[in-house]
Amino acid sequence: MKKSSADLKLIALVIAILLLILSPQLLLLATTKSYLDWFRYCVLPTLLLSTLLLSFSKYPHRSLWLLFPIALMAPQELFYLSTYQKSTDAHALAIVLETDISEASGYLSGLGWLIIGGIMAIMAIFFAATGVSKQRQHVWPQGDRWFKSSRLLIWVLVGAGLLFVVNEERQYAIAYPVVEKNNAAETALSRRALPESYNMFYQSYPLNVLLAFNEYRVQKQTLRNIAKSSEDFKFGAAQTSTLSERQIYVLVIGETLRPDRLQLNGYSRATTPRLAGLGDVISFRDMVSPWAWTRMSVPVIISRKGSTDASYFFAEKSVVGAFAEAGFRTYWLSTQSPLGVHDSSVALHANEADEVTYLNPVGYKKEGYYDEVILPAFERILQRPEQKQLIVIHTLGSHFSYADRYPANFDLFQPSGKGLQLGMHDKANKTQLNNAYDNSVAYTDYLMFNLIGQLQKQQAIASLLLVSDHGENIFDGDCEKSGHGHNTELDYRVAALWWGSELFQQANPAQVSQLKRSARMPLMTTQTFHTMLDLAQISYPSEQKAMSFASKQFRPLPRILSSGHDFDLAAKDKVCRALPAAK
Ligand SMILES: [Zn+2]
Repeated sequence: MKKSSADLKLIALVIAILLLILSPQLLLLATTKSYLDWFRYCVLPTLLLSTLLLSFSKYPHRSLWLLFPIALMAPQELFYLSTYQKSTDAHALAIVLETDISEASGYLSGLGWLIIGGIMAIMAIFFAATGVSKQRQHVWPQGDRWFKSSRLLIWVLVGAGLLFVVNEERQYAIAYPVVEKNNAAETALSRRALPESYNMFYQSYPLNVLLAFNEYRVQKQTLRNIAKSSEDFKFGAAQTSTLSERQIYVLVIGETLRPDRLQLNGYSRATTPRLAGLGDVISFRDMVSPWAWTRMSVPVIISRKGSTDASYFFAEKSVVGAFAEAGFRTYWLSTQSPLGVHDSSVALHANEADEVTYLNPVGYKKEGYYDEVILPAFERILQRPEQKQLIVIHTLGSHFSYADRYPANFDLFQPSGKGLQLGMHDKANKTQLNNAYDNSVAYTDYLMFNLIGQLQKQQAIASLLLVSDHGENIFDGDCEKSGHGHNTELDYRVAALWWGSELFQQANPAQVSQLKRSARMPLMTTQTFHTMLDLAQISYPSEQKAMSFASKQFRPLPRILSSGHDFDLAAKDKVCRALPAAK
């Protein structure tokens, strides 16, 4: 009687361990479309792996411990999956590995005691199970033919699976060699269609974590190789004047922010009440981006990359490198992703900064964190006793899904479809999409107002420039288009704002008057790099003052888009104001 109750206890404990390991997959069961696929890709690999690990020693009480790390990390996977509806991937790993957890506010906040309790409970289960097994002197039936052959089968199956994954990687490495030449590296990142093994097992815990580690490693290495080519690049930049005051320059890279939706620019809705209330924000109403995709449009903002340069990576450093040469401590705060097809061309330049912090473990595909997670990180930087700081902030702004970009208290214009995950290409959603978009703009107003508020508290020459990466179509007028990348006027028109502290205005009155003049001039986002350096009195041998819209020498240029067409002169169709296709 005593014997069987101990065995029952052991069985119950092992089932508990397996359930724990399978818990992420059990959560996936609720949303699966095919039970067979769910079993095949989510459950079976985990069961095989667990069985394999259990068969490593003839004493179960030893091999059980091999399951311990998998069981220990399972609650984290479960938490991540239930919170963000996606399994751990390379992006999530990058955030965890590269961001100080205390900086990633909210990622694990308030869970401290729960985590400690969870670890204790899992340890208790393992100690109890292995204890019983040891006490009962359990040994796998080594001599049993059935056992031996089934173990062999498992080893063969797992071995075949491993070979499959390794072969995938090898084939992939042959197809997309990671070498120091930009083109091949570009291909490896920008067209990195994931190997089949990722597509199959991305939801199979703990395989997904191992695959994510590998993907993270490959992408990071590729980025490092590309960064090497501009490692020694120098602008020869230095500040021309020695200022005794503290200096803080902030560049905010906006996301999908349309100029015509800013109340500051005459929009009928109160989308920028806070910034309008400040009274000293300059809004540039006529700025154009040469590109309408983030990965191409951000590099031209932050570097000297030309508007028609179609290469994915730019061989020079960015505004970050230039400020660093001039003696600035440089920071990069982002709620966008640190790697992947859409982000590597930006991450390359982010990595030039002394400190890079990615604050959003989710990316744009899900609701994740709102841009306000930037505020405490920004404040911590300002609190540092540093004389010269450059802070680049890459926001998620108004990236689709618009309703995911702001919290409930900014659901001002309704109906917005918040929480409904409305499709962006269904014209029936036109009203909701437009309302949600305007709400996201109102939220950006809140973010910018708070960034400025924190700068106001500093005794510093402070400047903040916001430039959006591209615009957006939202079924405007009779146009059937939504989103960006449609080659329309609305794709290319971007919002841009500038604010300067009192000390800045006193120190640089000529620049401030020029910025006011430029507010109505035809501008391009490619002028941002030059303007940022000019605002900070940073000079270098090949500088072009005519490219800075803060300079008296500023001269508007023909606005040539990535397509090669002149934005102002090209014919536009009546309905969508679409421009001619690329030359
Ligand atoms: Zn974008």
